[in-house]
Amino acid sequence: MELVGRHMLPGDYEGVLARIAEVAAGRPGQRASLVVHYRLVGADGRTRHCHDSMMLEVDAEGRPLVAFGVVVDVSEQVLAEAAMHEREAQFRSTMEAAQVGIFVLQDGLFRYVNPYLVGIFGYAEEELIDRLGPLDLIVPEQRDMVREQMRQREAGAPGKPYELTAVRKDGSEFPVMILGSPASYDGRPASVGTLLDITAQKDAERRARELADFDPLTGLPNRRLLSDRFTQLLAAAERDGSELALIFLDLDHFKRVNDSLGHSVGDELLCAVAQRLSTVVRKVDTLARLGGDEFIIALPGIRASAAAEVACRLLDVCAAPFAVGGHDLTITPSLGISLYPVDGKDFEALLRNADAAMYKAKEAGRNAFRFYSSEMNVATLKHLLMESGLRRGLGAREFILHYQPLVHVESGGIIGVEALIRWQNPEIGLVPPDQFIHVAEDIGLINPIGDWVLREACRQVRAWQDAGLPPLIVAVNVSPIQFRQPGFVDTVANALAASGLEARFLELELTERTVMQDAEQTLSTLSALNNMGVELAVDDFGTGYSSLAYLKRFPVGKLKIDRSFVRDLEVDPDDRAIASTILSMGRGLRLKVLAEGVETKEQYAILRSMGCELVQGYHFSRPLPPEQFVAFLRKYGLANKG
Ligand code: C2E
Ligand code: MG
Ligand code: MG
Repeated sequence: MELVGRHMLPGDYEGVLARIAEVAAGRPGQRASLVVHYRLVGADGRTRHCHDSMMLEVDAEGRPLVAFGVVVDVSEQVLAEAAMHEREAQFRSTMEAAQVGIFVLQDGLFRYVNPYLVGIFGYAEEELIDRLGPLDLIVPEQRDMVREQMRQREAGAPGKPYELTAVRKDGSEFPVMILGSPASYDGRPASVGTLLDITAQKDAERRARELADFDPLTGLPNRRLLSDRFTQLLAAAERDGSELALIFLDLDHFKRVNDSLGHSVGDELLCAVAQRLSTVVRKVDTLARLGGDEFIIALPGIRASAAAEVACRLLDVCAAPFAVGGHDLTITPSLGISLYPVDGKDFEALLRNADAAMYKAKEAGRNAFRFYSSEMNVATLKHLLMESGLRRGLGAREFILHYQPLVHVESGGIIGVEALIRWQNPEIGLVPPDQFIHVAEDIGLINPIGDWVLREACRQVRAWQDAGLPPLIVAVNVSPIQFRQPGFVDTVANALAASGLEARFLELELTERTVMQDAEQTLSTLSALNNMGVELAVDDFGTGYSSLAYLKRFPVGKLKIDRSFVRDLEVDPDDRAIASTILSMGRGLRLKVLAEGVETKEQYAILRSMGCELVQGYHFSRPLPPEQFVAFLRKYGLANKG
């Protein structure tokens, strides 16, 4: 058989012949049908793809005799398929080369993931496909949110990009950005999405934030961050009525370092200074660099005296030379302090005033600090002198006790003494308690001082008893801080034990405020003392406020009418009314009442006529040093109660 195959492409023609021969050989003497594909070159020169269904007559030897064929031109179809395969291959290589995770989701599971996505999570592709879904690759707290996103995508709603914290197979976390959109897969709703690892972007953002908030040289907060924090501190201070201090610190003659040794040495010095300053500030404080050689320290919840202390310490830490760039450099700071609320109500005002105060320190000769308001300068200077003096005074035994008699009205006899502390300061002389007790309270020195007073008073009174003087009670003033100190009852017991004084000879004087504050706690301490046999008196009675209910419940034995009511007894009917009210109240509650500050015989007469049982004051004696008191006692004649 001959095939009219002149227009077939070479190779296709031979192929078709071979196929016919093969089919014919299998069906000798019969007919056979077959389909062949080949390409023809048409008259226009274009190649056509042919689908040819043939009927074949075969001779007895199995050779083809005749073939009839129906030829269909399938060129279009073939080209379309080829294009599709090409597109598919392209798609695959794109997915595989993409530097972003790509996935198809359906029913909450991955149906397709690209190699990049597989790579960043550390799973094998088989572990992901049809087995895991997005919920397995994120932190648990974001699962609800992602579940909702998937539901929306599968319902056909387009998505917006959102951030998630992704979790790798090894458990490590990293930030990703997800964008999903609705799709269909295998003829059913699905979603496709991309996933971007945004670790680098987040790092860059953080660095940018740091640059915006921190000084690149020293790593300290910069002005912007300081101002933010300070504004928050101000709000808090306003809310709870607390104080705030702002210290402006500028290095003296810093420019000389830069000019003579160069900027890199200057920079090094600034870092070294920053480091030393940071050792002074507390956790709640902010040390910031304003630029150049200017530093700011924001101190929340701090009073003038404490701010002055910080300023002193800042000066101290800068005192030793700085070893930088092979030099030992000495540099001093000048500091200005402004206080909220007195020196300003906002950051800018306080900063300006701290700056102005810093200039005052420079004018005063540098290496110093100044407050913005001058009263503050005088007050804190005294306070500071007082503080260091007090600390020294305690060690140097500069405290002494004076004793003022307590007089029994009916008998005219002396039944006891009040021990009153004085500070024998070598420079200032005798300092009265009103001037230093509150400083001692502020700086935490009241406990050791108060303990000393207790021991010394007990010792002295017992010594007088031993010397044959008639037994006197001794009244000791107790500061509220001392009274609330946890071991106070033990301290009292120890003072008694150490001196050998019987408890009934000791009376503790607490001010009305001390007693009424935190009444339940007070009650238990008072009861413990009372059980020991110690007497308790309410001092300065009438100046605070008292709850009669508490007064009745408390084991208090005595009220001391404050001397402000005694002073004008002769002329002020109100004071007379108050004194007599306290006296009758005392009788009603079965409390002894003592009137303080009796200076004249007229006052004494009035009190006596009102039935006042006990008095104390200059009219009888000023507080006296121990030896003088003994002399006074001998002269006055001993009490003989009748
Ligand atoms: P206070 O407990 O009310 O003591 C009475 C004060 O009035 C004493 O002042 C005393 O010298 C003074 N005084 C006595 N009689 C008269 C008078 O007729 N006229 C006038 N104008 N004043 C008189 P002082 O010794 O200066 O003590 C003042 C305050 O210091 C005391 O008031 C007491 O609250 C406190 N204080 C004294 N010693 C101590 C102590 O050892 N510890 C504590 N925590 N506070 C003490
Ligand atoms: Mg007193
Ligand atoms: Mg008093």
